[in-house]
Amino acid sequence: MKVTAIGFWGAYPERGEATSSYLFEKDGFRLLVDCGSGALAQLPKYIDPYDLDAVILSHYHHDHKADLGVLQYQMLVQNGIRKQDKILPIYGHQQDKTEFNQLTHNYTEAVVYNPEQSTAIGPFTITFMATDHPVSCYAMRITDGEKVVVYTADSSFKQEFVPFSKQADVLITDCNFYEDQDGRAAGHMNSKECAMIAAEAGVNTLILSHHPHFGERDQLVIEAKRYFSGDVLLAYSGLTWQ
Ligand SMILES: [Zn+2]
Ligand SMILES: [Zn+2]
Repeated sequence: MKVTAIGFWGAYPERGEATSSYLFEKDGFRLLVDCGSGALAQLPKYIDPYDLDAVILSHYHHDHKADLGVLQYQMLVQNGIRKQDKILPIYGHQQDKTEFNQLTHNYTEAVVYNPEQSTAIGPFTITFMATDHPVSCYAMRITDGEKVVVYTADSSFKQEFVPFSKQADVLITDCNFYEDQDGRAAGHMNSKECAMIAAEAGVNTLILSHHPHFGERDQLVIEAKRYFSGDVLLAYSGLTWQ
């Protein structure tokens, strides 16, 4: 599988970039994991957004779903231009029914995932774990049967991330704070906590994402490397792993 960071900022995007959004591709199938602010402006750099096969959302905070509305308009306009009736499935949890119902539009269809069970979407199988965050949010363990990528989505540290991330090839973490800061009140992790999960779970590559808008972000990598000896990458627009 191939994973591309479409957006990696927390809260809001910096100039020309986007908040949380990741493209997972395998055998021509294209799954967008979260759809943050700026994602629709970034996606055409990599694929035609009309070619998306599915979208899945970790939770309904704006920095993870802001561009859903324009994605729905894109499906409406492009279906008209192409004289097609393609329906794009958008997977979400149903803890917030108002938000869930908004996933359905003319040419998008809300599909519920049950976080207690694994869900198959195209070539991917996804299992979930509830995170610690101000709203219901689910981390995802995504496999194509060969490789495993774990995405923490938004969360403060919880020990359960270690078994959930066990032996993953890649761990994409919410790294919204520096080592000496406590992210628990905000529902996010710091660089040390991300690295501790990576180390204890024995993952191969750690990608620090959901960045803060302050400080020198390269410092996040320096801090993480104190606790984790594997590869540590700072997410950026277009970062790909395969
Ligand atoms: Zn977020
Ligand atoms: Zn959030």
